[in-house]
Amino acid sequence: MRVLDGVHQIKSPGPASGSLSTNVYVVEGGDGHILVDSGWDTQESLWALQEGTKAANLKLRDIKKVVVTHIHPDHYGLSSKIKQVCGAQVAIHRVDAGFISPKYKDFADLLQKTEELLRQNGVPQDELPQLKEASLWMNKYVTPDSPDVMLEDGDVISNDSFQFRIFWTPGHSPGHICLYEKEKKFILTGDHVLYETTPHVGYNPLSGDNPLGDYISSLKKLQSLKVNYVLPGHGPLFNALGLRIEKILEHHEHRRRAILKSLRDGLKTAYEIAQKIPWMTDRGGIAFRDLPVWDKRMAVTETLAHLKLLLEEGGVSNVAMDGASLYIAKD
Ligand SMILES: [Zn+2]
Ligand SMILES: [Zn+2]
Repeated sequence: MRVLDGVHQIKSPGPASGSLSTNVYVVEGGDGHILVDSGWDTQESLWALQEGTKAANLKLRDIKKVVVTHIHPDHYGLSSKIKQVCGAQVAIHRVDAGFISPKYKDFADLLQKTEELLRQNGVPQDELPQLKEASLWMNKYVTPDSPDVMLEDGDVISNDSFQFRIFWTPGHSPGHICLYEKEKKFILTGDHVLYETTPHVGYNPLSGDNPLGDYISSLKKLQSLKVNYVLPGHGPLFNALGLRIEKILEHHEHRRRAILKSLRDGLKTAYEIAQKIPWMTDRGGIAFRDLPVWDKRMAVTETLAHLKLLLEEGGVSNVAMDGASLYIAKD
């Protein structure tokens, strides 16, 4: 589907029925097209890409660059296969490039660290194996390979029709990037800013010390950009970038208050706090105990991301007790 002059959006299907599709974008150029994000590594995704380019009267083999906004499977998974098919160069931010191997190749260490982290933060023994391995199934939809180009903030990716400035926007993933076309006033935001959902920002062994602090700074970095169209990695296109950023910031302010409120009656682990705050799914509000296992882990790591930011700002303090990390509000 053509979304702007020379820019086509293709819905790349999720690997399971009912799973989220990814928006990938083909940006036309006479000297080669740029593909932004690749979708999961499945036959259906490659098929969708082939059909999508055909429908736009373009050729798959004319894709010369694949820019990956971040290395989550739904954005990065198929990039190596596209490289094989088209000979395209794959470009990823240096920080996320460094996580390809620990996340998708030698992941035993990551699994162990994840287990320790979850245990420390109050996940009960009987839930640990499930929560620890909640994302493992996704690895089979990724072909991990090192990128050809390591991106840095401020780099420029272009063809003869478009010129994108790379904005490093850590938070959702430590090496997340957005691509800004200044002259044509549009931005591709990956999972950094979405319209219908609040992007997941969790504390995990690869997230850095304060991912939510990073995320909020990254949101503010985009607030003053002149943008007429936002092309996100999931869900609908939209135009009021500044307004949407305000809404996301508001959401985090609410959650921060809910977390502090949950600490009024005493010390708690992140897992106990996560049980006290409201969670949303696509189908509306849901109690923590009813969340599917992957969402449950995200709820715990999101709570932790808030606690890390609160620790840094001095809103809470924490203490280690019998191997568990307990939090308390400071006033
Ligand atoms: Zn993502
Ligand atoms: Zn995504």
